[in-house]
Parts: sequence; structure tokens; C-alpha cells
Amino acid sequence: RTYNFNPGPAALPLEVLEQAKEELVEYEGRGMSITEMSHRSPVYERVHEETQELLRELLQLPSTYRVLLMGGGASAQFALLPMNFLTPDRAGAYVLTGSFSEKAYEEARTVGTAVAVASTKLQQWACLPQPEDIVVPPDAAYVHLTTNNTIEGSQFTAFPETGEVPLIGDMTSDLLSRDIELSPFSMMYAGAQKNLGPAGVTVVLLREELLEQASEQIPAILRYKTFAANNSLYNTPPVHAVYMMRLVLQWAKRQGGVAALEQRNREKARRIYEVIDGSGGFYQGVIETPYRSMMNITWRMASEELEQRFVAESEQHGFDGLAGHRSVGGLRASAYNAVPLAACEALADFMRAFQERHG
Ligand code: PLP
Repeated sequence: RTYNFNPGPAALPLEVLEQAKEELVEYEGRGMSITEMSHRSPVYERVHEETQELLRELLQLPSTYRVLLMGGGASAQFALLPMNFLTPDRAGAYVLTGSFSEKAYEEARTVGTAVAVASTKLQQWACLPQPEDIVVPPDAAYVHLTTNNTIEGSQFTAFPETGEVPLIGDMTSDLLSRDIELSPFSMMYAGAQKNLGPAGVTVVLLREELLEQASEQIPAILRYKTFAANNSLYNTPPVHAVYMMRLVLQWAKRQGGVAALEQRNREKARRIYEVIDGSGGFYQGVIETPYRSMMNITWRMASEELEQRFVAESEQHGFDGLAGHRSVGGLRASAYNAVPLAACEALADFMRAFQERHG
């Protein structure tokens, strides 16, 4: 198979794809696929329940959190979060560490008042603010941060103390990839298409206390309360995406859960950073070392021409998805859960050989 380093939609485990293929035409002897079944049927309901239970189990999520399965991608959360929680006298506080956090902030500003409480934009997003430097207004509606900056390649390892102010995490590109202490967060959300499954479903984990404060003045389909009250079955859920996510979560459990996945992800990232750091400047890491992401490894080379050559040759050698985001250029290897260690070893070998040819 292609060594798939795409940033999202991203690689899925081969076992999951094989199982989905097996079950696509005929699901549990029903004469139809799960994708064709009513979302009110007991068969789908079981998939829906199991998916939530697996998320809870793998993330060790306390019962004080609700699990919501929503549509619209993580970008919909950029809007839903302020719509549900901003009030005329409470602003949203945003930690700006990359382009997705900026998008979340800009979206909040179309809804109400949002303030930036920290930003590393002047540093070209090459570092992250220290948790103690994130000063949260005590009357803020919430503080929003992006735990892993997918485009830039940085990742938080410690989070600010926000007191009574709810901390909200966009964990789209690292939920389920490492053992994050979730208890500081009142809400976390993640589009599925990195570590959880295919695009089409967004996981929202929301503390009951925060849910109680959510707006009832906005259209029903936009309220977190609607999804919570109806077990995310208010309208037709993304049935196929949820089914696929369940297969991915079952796979994650078979791998040994989050701790085992984290260990493997650490090793995978280490193989690639090792080449960058040992290249004598041929490959230049974009992010300052303490803030480097395990999921999205970004680097630059001496010229754009050389970078383009790297991408072209990588494709000839069976790699896909290594070009950096169109907004920033450079190179990026996204090594989510389903990317095998062997793919990262192959990439490390390819990088060394490329340097030998062109260095
Ligand atoms: N937030 C982060 C951290 C992301 O990486 C992405 C997509 O890559 C998004 C938000 C937007 O997600 P979606 O495309 O599901 O709207």
C-alpha cells in the first residue's frame, strides 16, 4: 500500500478497511449494508451506542461528560461553540497558535465578542505560549485552544489553569493519539478524519455543567442541548462515518489502547525528527523543539524547488501527502495512529537517501 502521510482525511488501518469491505454489502446477515439501514433500527442503535462506549473507555472519560456525535466537521464547532456559550457580557477567550485557532477566533467574532489572550503569530507560530502566560479574564465565557496545530506542526503538552472559566480544546488532530489529561477541559471536539475514522462525524465531549449553560435561543439543530437530549439522534446522523469510527475504535482497543498508540506514535515521530536533526541543516524543522508535534512533522529545505523535488521523488517511491499545507508550503508528514511504524521508517530512509542524492 501507499505510505499515506496525508493530513486529513488520513490513513485508516488496513484491518478496518478490510472489515468494512467484508461487511459493506451484507451487514450481520440483514440483506443490506449498515449504510442503507434506518438510524432508528436496533442494529444501528447498537453501533451508535458501542461507538460512544468505546470512546468513553479508550479516553477514560468520566461519566460527568456527555458524548455527542455531530456533523459539519470541526469547523462547524468554531461557530457552534460561540453560538451556544457567548452572551452579551461574556466574551470568548482564544489562544492563537496557528491557522485553525485563528479560524475559530474569527468565527467567534461573527457571533459575539472574542478576545485573543495569547498569540504566537509574531513568531510565525514556531512556538507555543507557556501555560502561565495565558491570562484568562475571569468573566470569559470560555478559553479555547488547539491542542495540536495540524498545519504548523506544534502540540501542547501542558495546559493553562483557567479556574472557573471552562477550557475548550480543539483536539481534531490529536484526540486518541496520546494520553492527555482530559479533566482540565470542559469541552473537547475533534473532526474524525485524523485519528478516529473517515470525515463526516465530529466527536464532542462536553461536561454536564457546561451543557446546562448552553443556549436555548438558537435554532434547535445548532444547540448542544438538542444533541445531548436526543442521544445525537435528533436528525439523521452520519451513519456510515459512525460505523467506520466504531471499527477504528475497536482496532485502537486491539492495539492496546491510547497508551500503546502513544508509545508507537512517539517512536514514529522520533524516527523522522532524528533525520531532520541529524541532517546538518539540509532539513530544517519548522517548530522549536519543545513544541514539536508527534502527529504533524513539518520541515523546510533550502529552496522551494528542492522541496518540490522532494515531493515528486517521494511520490515515485510510494509516499503520498508530504507537501506542506498550501498556505505555508514546506513539507509535512502526518503520522496519525493508523500510519504504521514501517511507513515512518521508510520515510526516514527515503529522507536520508534524498539528502545523499541532493545534499
Ligand atoms: N481544527 C483542526 C486542529 C484541524 O486540523 C482541522 C482540519 O484539519 C479543523 C479544525 C477543521 O476540520 P474540518 O475540516 O473537519 O472542519
